Amino acid sequence: MKIAFIGLGNMGGGMAANLVKAGHDVHAFDLAEAALARAAEQGCTPFTDAGEAVAGVDAVVSMLPNGKIVDSVYHASVFGKAPAGAILLDCSTIDVATARKVAEDAQSAGYDMVDAPVSGGIAAANGGTLTFMVGGSDAAFGRAEPILQAMGKAVIHAGAAGAGQAAKICNNMLLGIHMNGTCETFKLAERLGLDLQKFYDIASVSSGQCWSMTSYCPVPGVGPQSPADNDYQGGFAAALMLKDLRLAMEAAQTAGARVPMGEKAKELYEAYDAAGNGGVDFSGIIRTL
Ligand code: NAD
Repeated sequence: MKIAFIGLGNMGGGMAANLVKAGHDVHAFDLAEAALARAAEQGCTPFTDAGEAVAGVDAVVSMLPNGKIVDSVYHASVFGKAPAGAILLDCSTIDVATARKVAEDAQSAGYDMVDAPVSGGIAAANGGTLTFMVGGSDAAFGRAEPILQAMGKAVIHAGAAGAGQAAKICNNMLLGIHMNGTCETFKLAERLGLDLQKFYDIASVSSGQCWSMTSYCPVPGVGPQSPADNDYQGGFAAALMLKDLRLAMEAAQTAGARVPMGEKAKELYEAYDAAGNGGVDFSGIIRTL
């Protein structure tokens, strides 16, 4: 299949490389020369114009920073330039409203489109083990699924257009909440004189168990290997967690949902980011306690 890939940064670079490995002919476009050069090294054909990159393709995949950019790239360089009937897949994490609007505009322009944000970071993008949560019609999902499968370990149809983004920000709001809960719980346990490995052994098989504890423990030397064991480097940057929490708060406001714990998690990550920790793994927030 001929696939255009737009946005070959930390995530998109590895994802495009996995499409090449799966035998696809990948046309790469990115504004950054370094990203384009890396894509070329990995077997993609580099293009310096997005409209040229999408000409003659069967599918377009994008992995871009935010909704504003996604909206402008699709309107300026994809609609009317990619062949009629091409399937469009936006894998960026963006706001639900923009995802729905761009999908509607795609439909009017004669394309099937899905929003397919991911769970999993750079390592999963490189390793082809991302989880995709997909919003779009049954027909669009059916066309997108085999392409996504070449880049991930799980591809789940969440519902109509925008449902992938909705699932992503709901999941990450919960992650932001339980990471903060895990951090303060371990700090309290420490203050109460508990041996933290012993507390882990107990809580990880008790009702307080959660992913932040058993898969990503914020305490160095406790639980499985995690960014805490690497001075909170690598992993999922606090700035990206903050981005997702802001998207969740925006969506909650639009939907009229009360999310006091999500709001608190956003405030805590806002302060952590403002103190210069945006590039630190999000579990590093334990060091503020
Ligand atoms: P990144 O900044 O490394 O990559 C984005 C790329 O898009 C850059 O190479 C940039 O040059 C390019 N770009 C920006 N504007 C462009 C335009 N108009 N046309 C073409 N290219 C353009 O970001 P990333 O970490 O790869 O994240 C991409 C998306 O994936 C974001 O929406 C992010 O929230 C989401 N995400 C990231 C992670 C992660 O761990 N990094 C995890 C899950 C989801």
